[in-house]
Amino acid sequence: MNVTHLECALCGLRHEANVLQNLCITCGKPLLVRYDLETAGKTLTRESLSTRTSTLWRYAEVLPVRSPENIVSLGEGWTPLFKTDTLAGRLPVKLDLYIKDEGQNPTQSFKARGMTAAISMAKELGVKKVAVPSAGNAAGALAAYAAKAGMEAFIFMPADTPRANIVECQQTGANVTLVDGLITDCGKIVAERKEAEGWFDVSTLKEPYRVEGKKTMGYELAEQFDWNLPDVIMYPTGGGTGLIGMWKAFDEMEQMGWIGSKRPRMVSLQSATCAPIVRAFENGERFADEFENASTVASGLRVPKAIGDFLILDAVRASGGTAISVTDAELVEAVGEIGAAEGIFTAPEGSACLPALRKLIDIGYVSAGESVVIFNTGAGVKYLEAFE
Ligand SMILES: *Cc1c(COP(=O)(O)O)cnc(C)c1O
Ligand SMILES: [Zn+2]
Repeated sequence: MNVTHLECALCGLRHEANVLQNLCITCGKPLLVRYDLETAGKTLTRESLSTRTSTLWRYAEVLPVRSPENIVSLGEGWTPLFKTDTLAGRLPVKLDLYIKDEGQNPTQSFKARGMTAAISMAKELGVKKVAVPSAGNAAGALAAYAAKAGMEAFIFMPADTPRANIVECQQTGANVTLVDGLITDCGKIVAERKEAEGWFDVSTLKEPYRVEGKKTMGYELAEQFDWNLPDVIMYPTGGGTGLIGMWKAFDEMEQMGWIGSKRPRMVSLQSATCAPIVRAFENGERFADEFENASTVASGLRVPKAIGDFLILDAVRASGGTAISVTDAELVEAVGEIGAAEGIFTAPEGSACLPALRKLIDIGYVSAGESVVIFNTGAGVKYLEAFE
């Protein structure tokens, strides 16, 4: 509701909102949704939230769907924020440590947030066939939401994607193609075939709406922290949709008068064997080169080239944040440590936050008394191969 237009995130060119759009027609970069926040804020107030649905659609006024009957929902969002004192007690300084448990979403990852928005909008704009290249969880989420919407889904995944992702797509009725390559190779196939096949491409940030679904993590954090955002957010980064989305959400909330100008320091973390954003951050670059020979068991982080690289890097820098990598051995070990301490079987992407946080404490970047949120972006049960 209340969408005024789409805007290119790089060149600012205005695009029409009520038609299907992928990338900016002049520079090929992502489009972001802009709202009439004054109108949105008339009915969407902080007080209004107490009576709303416990899905991310509680923020409907700042989500893109115009007609509520087009919303395709499986109960996504409004996930718990756990205070994790046992885990915090294992760290060398005393922190207020929290886990936002995105593994409790439909299809067991936060990809559900993006896909509920993208598929609802695809439905509103008359799409019948959708396609996606995926490193794993985006595929499972797309398959589920497409099934619920009655659309045909075409999915291209690396052949070594976790088995749970492949099986869930098949069992929710998608057309699954396994590709001998990486997500970037899968993306090329979708790009080559989509026109002839009549597919709408829902790749990360190549359509404007997944990021809108994911931005609701920012709204939820503000609400769950009683409108005082934490000091540090640790975000396991692949395409960066969630980090970009939360950053956008903070600005929207400030414009509606919900929060002040204080922002969390945004920490982008990646696997050492696929760390294009970390490398670009360290080199002072705004765009990230493709990371050669990318590999990691944290399949959601296996994104060697992200089209929203500059949006991730801009947000990290503007927030006073940083970018850091951890090894696969470190992140797999952390799954068991978090699980035993807190009873949450995290995805390896989420567990990567813990060794990254230890390093940031070591270098004095995070210090005693700060509040830190780590995002567990998925459920460990989808990655059984990583523990063999
Ligand atoms: C996709 C994914 C990520 C990365 O998310 P982006 O928003 O693309 O950076 C992290 N963790 C899991 C479990 C994922 O599925
Ligand atoms: Zn542009």
